[in-house]
Amino acid sequence: MARAIDVHTHFVPEIMPSGTGRNALWPSIEHRERNTAAVIVGGKVFRAIDSRSWDAGRRLQDMQLDDVDVQVVSPMPELLSHWFPVGDADALSSHINCSIAKLCSAHPRSFVGIGMVPVQDPALAARRLVDVKGLGLFVGIEIGTHINGVALGDPRMHEFYAAAEEADLAIMIHPLHPSGMERIGGRPELAAVAAFPLETALAATSLLTHGVTERFPKLRILLSHGGGALPWILPRLKYARALGPPLQDLFARDPDEMARTFYYDTILYDRLALRFLADSVGADHIVIGSDYPFSIKQDRPAQFAEQALGVSRETFAANTARFLNQAPSTIWSAVTVEQQQENQGETGG
Ligand SMILES: [Zn+2]
Repeated sequence: MARAIDVHTHFVPEIMPSGTGRNALWPSIEHRERNTAAVIVGGKVFRAIDSRSWDAGRRLQDMQLDDVDVQVVSPMPELLSHWFPVGDADALSSHINCSIAKLCSAHPRSFVGIGMVPVQDPALAARRLVDVKGLGLFVGIEIGTHINGVALGDPRMHEFYAAAEEADLAIMIHPLHPSGMERIGGRPELAAVAAFPLETALAATSLLTHGVTERFPKLRILLSHGGGALPWILPRLKYARALGPPLQDLFARDPDEMARTFYYDTILYDRLALRFLADSVGADHIVIGSDYPFSIKQDRPAQFAEQALGVSRETFAANTARFLNQAPSTIWSAVTVEQQQENQGETGG
């Protein structure tokens, strides 16, 4: 059977470099008892975490319980630091990427990396992409749904997209510092619950209306959390385009068709919601995700996805191989070879 690959899991390093002389929002880790810790940002607890955020052993145990074979590991989004001065963002990116690389190199059959670069300086980010690719352990780069207020469709981002396309690295778009919280007027924890899906849909609309999918046809983009509210907005975009100018001029072609070039994870918690996503964008562009190890994580993500869509694990593995532009053999070859050897041993061949 094909292996279950969870493309949406997060990482926080056990140790963070000193923030002396750095931006006031430089994160630190405060270790507490029984393998728990807190991420401190601006002198306040940003998030309570535990050693699952960095400990390979604990992650591997949980993967067994969750029936996941490979985790694609990306930075906790708040670490992306798009609001830092470039030098600070560059230094933090380097530390986070090195920490993820250590995890992946120690367990190359179980962990694959998605890194980060100082994308607030697209020219520098383009150079750093080459460095990240050179490590041989990363399949993509994570960015927020806006770069400190710059929309993802903005032409200033194009240099970065061109470099990602050239380096053959996928882009994972994760909601971050979402708009709309003032409309809710509730606790900040509601950001991840209610504002993230809207934020992702806005970012996707920016990409669609600025021709990013057309300009960079080889770029592979993942929209987190099943694309958020995008599947609900798509029919409206399509209808509006059919009305003629001026909205028609914003779309190079049918928004539906362009949205089918993105990839989407399965973090939707509800079978009907996942089926609607598959009907909207095609089951061949859906990959398994969980948001491990945070409290909002979806348990047994592969089983959920298979049961919701009635699609086999092989299909999701094939989708993931396309999203990461990897021959299936490069992600799970070690096990395949091992299994082949075991099978040969069992049959005496
Ligand atoms: Zn996430």
